[in-house]
Amino acid sequence: MKRKTWSCHDCGVKEGELHQEGCDMETCVDCGGQLISCDCEVKKFGEIPYLLIPNLCRLCGKQWPDMFGIPDGEWDNFVLPELKLEVLCRECYKEVKAIFPKGWRSKKKSRQSN
Ligand SMILES: [Zn+2]
Ligand SMILES: [Zn+2]
Ligand SMILES: [Zn+2]
Repeated sequence: MKRKTWSCHDCGVKEGELHQEGCDMETCVDCGGQLISCDCEVKKFGEIPYLLIPNLCRLCGKQWPDMFGIPDGEWDNFVLPELKLEVLCRECYKEVKAIFPKGWRSKKKSRQSN
């Protein structure tokens, strides 16, 4: 499967090329942060070639899964804490909901033997 590539959304360079000065996608070589908003005194533009890092579904690895809306509270209820900050595709989110029909906090009522 070929990786999707995109031109920089801000300055328009292709992957492997250097950003134009002032591009908001440029990474700071000193701190690793976003160059236009980091705290470094000396801003070094044109140091790191542009490489797009794709969003991947954390569960199936699908690239650039469609963004989809989830009602408030649902994400918290169904998605385990270690996945909360990750990207899930719509299909995997459905599976997660199937695994935890009432949310992951709801324990199965199987330990009522005493
Ligand atoms: Zn750029
Ligand atoms: Zn910096
Ligand atoms: Zn997925």
